[in-house]
Amino acid sequence: MFNKKTIRDVDFKGKRVLVRVDFNVPIKDGVVTDDTRIKAALPTLQYLLDHGASLVLCSHLGRPKEGPDPQFSMRPVADHLAKIIGKPVAFAEDCIGPVAEKAAKALKPGDILVLENTRFHKGETKNDPEMAKQLAALADIYVNDAFGSAHRAHASTEGVARYLPAVAGFLMEKEIQYLGQAIADPKKPFVAILGGAKISDKIGVIRNLLTKADQVLIGGGMANTFFKAQGYPVGDSLVEDEALETAKQLLSEGGTKLRLPVDVVIANKFEDNAEKKVISMGPVPDGWRIMDVGPETVATFTKVIIPAGTVVWNGPMGVFEFPNFAEGTFGIAKAVAECKGVTIVGGGDSVSAVKKSGVADKITHISTGGGASLEMLEGLVLPGVAVLQDK
Ligand code: ADP
Ligand code: MG
Repeated sequence: MFNKKTIRDVDFKGKRVLVRVDFNVPIKDGVVTDDTRIKAALPTLQYLLDHGASLVLCSHLGRPKEGPDPQFSMRPVADHLAKIIGKPVAFAEDCIGPVAEKAAKALKPGDILVLENTRFHKGETKNDPEMAKQLAALADIYVNDAFGSAHRAHASTEGVARYLPAVAGFLMEKEIQYLGQAIADPKKPFVAILGGAKISDKIGVIRNLLTKADQVLIGGGMANTFFKAQGYPVGDSLVEDEALETAKQLLSEGGTKLRLPVDVVIANKFEDNAEKKVISMGPVPDGWRIMDVGPETVATFTKVIIPAGTVVWNGPMGVFEFPNFAEGTFGIAKAVAECKGVTIVGGGDSVSAVKKSGVADKITHISTGGGASLEMLEGLVLPGVAVLQDK
């Protein structure tokens, strides 16, 4: 299935290894506030250390606009990594050039160096070959474990792999295996649940899943545009008028596979403490807006989800950030948790919704990559994966 070389296929003894990790973590007042992504890379880092490598770690962090910006420094990440891995971690104030080279050369087997934010250089997002070469000069082997950035062809995710032996880390392998399998050879019945704010973000995903899945259950803000395309007034609901034509097409392509909510929770304001009521799907009164799927919808979707062989879920069913409108999303999370098949959740907000719902440990695979997982579900090949050595 996964036809790329991984770290199991390489001898790391005495080698310096450049590892592209996804350490794009939230930081507040110089402290990492959620280290899920750092922890997700630990199996790869530990394996490399156990096999005699020294590590040069690189990642982007946030979206710095004009070169170096202390707000986006990787230093707090290096400090945090040192704490959780239980050994000193060196830090280089630049990811390429003399500072980085000197720090990398000083490494002995077992040592770890974290480089400064790759996006402090414009060459990163431009996939500048010169920057890629400079990154490659820091090590003997390149390992890509940054699934969350693999959909971008940047210098540290794609370009650099052209100048070094390049293989996948364990996190990358695991992500591609679960998501790839779900798309290429799912255990049936295959049920996709799609929600979130907008259709326009996910047209490719809906289209691809309509060809692969047995049922596509739609909720969240994107359902509103489908409702409007069916001719219902949707009041003040979030709606994308520019996607109405696409929604109509998808409705006709999808036929009975595409399932919309049968009832919705509406509110008179976009606020947690708004007045709310449940209506069967039909015209939404003026001044009201759809905030969540209703209990009837959760019940009907649950009947489809529980017996599934594979479930893929992207996009919350409602405005789950407001506790009063989280029931639909949490209800679906519970159904997915009860499903005995392979269950996969991807998407930044979807993952935080599942965590909030308290059932995260009952999900087979929670993807660490938002955009990357969407591109996988869309059936695209990720450039950061394509460039790795074939088995
Ligand atoms: P993900 O990050 O999992 O891919 P999205 O970013 O596409 O998900 O969508 C998540 C957002 O969609 C959440 O912030 C949620 O509040 C919003 N949302 C869901 N349902 C609605 C709705 N009915 N009206 C407005 N926003 C909604
Ligand atoms: Mg999101």
